[in-house]
Amino acid sequence: MVERVSGKTQSDEDGDARLARPAPIEKSRRASSSPKARAQPASKYTKKTIALVYDFDGTLSPKPMQEYAFLPKLGVKAEDFWAECTRVAKAERADPLITYMHLMYKKAKEKGLRVDRKDLVAQGRDVELYQGVENWFGEIERYVKALPGANGVTVKHYLVSSGLTEIIEGTKIYKHFANVFASEYWFDAYDLPFPKRVITDTGKTQYLFRINKGIEDLGESINSHMDEDARPIPFANMIYFGDGETDVPSMALLKKNGGHAIAVHTPTRAPAGSTKDVRSAPMQKCVELFNAGRCDFYAPADYRKGSDLFKRTCLLIDRMVADIRVQEERSGLG
Ligand SMILES: [Mg+2]
Repeated sequence: MVERVSGKTQSDEDGDARLARPAPIEKSRRASSSPKARAQPASKYTKKTIALVYDFDGTLSPKPMQEYAFLPKLGVKAEDFWAECTRVAKAERADPLITYMHLMYKKAKEKGLRVDRKDLVAQGRDVELYQGVENWFGEIERYVKALPGANGVTVKHYLVSSGLTEIIEGTKIYKHFANVFASEYWFDAYDLPFPKRVITDTGKTQYLFRINKGIEDLGESINSHMDEDARPIPFANMIYFGDGETDVPSMALLKKNGGHAIAVHTPTRAPAGSTKDVRSAPMQKCVELFNAGRCDFYAPADYRKGSDLFKRTCLLIDRMVADIRVQEERSGLG
């Protein structure tokens, strides 16, 4: 679950993503067009999909998604609501995610408000996104397409969130995801909606395996053995984007299996004239994740083309594309 506190300011960090592109790929592209290279057997290497997997709350959006419409509708202060969730979960020894899903509707019922699936989807329209998020998906896809030697490499975007599927469905960026794995309600099971699926911090890793194995249908078991060779998206082709402690299991899984992770934090701006190193709590958390080897990079959650986040993501993509080309070259030998 998200670190449910955030203070937001805007970033003034900018840069040029093209600077990040390495030259060796261009050299090797020229080499592969020689007559000798053309005589090589056609590549049998098929693992040319890169998956970018995002957490939602605190990563793509500054605040937990329930704070934009649901809690204001109830007239409940966000900090009071999350404090109550923590208190109840502790007292009852309940899962904190099931507790928040339960409390949301308990409070709605107390206020005489009936909220159904359609209402939650409509609330997605109020969810605020970090700067540049809306154009990020297209910009990344364009970057990959233009990379020398990236012939046939494609990018897919996935969301794995402890938040609510219904609210995410209503956001402007829903259409960009190849698949969304998030917590969800069962609306017609009981008087109060009942959790149909709860995605905990560690539970998120199941969905990374689903992407890895190509078993995205939730009706299918994920546990059967599958040889590495048979898995369509190797962990090495994935980047996970998260913002804190709740993302540690996902980051750790990818990092231990050759994949990548980037931590993001609320952009901060140093006061004018200040030379002091201003580290907000969210940024400090990213530094801790970085120092603990949980992520390859961290950056302000500024998704505009040319931002540090864009440049660092492109650097990892450059490396993945180079690795894919190496595998392709090898697959034609022996
Ligand atoms: Mg989060």
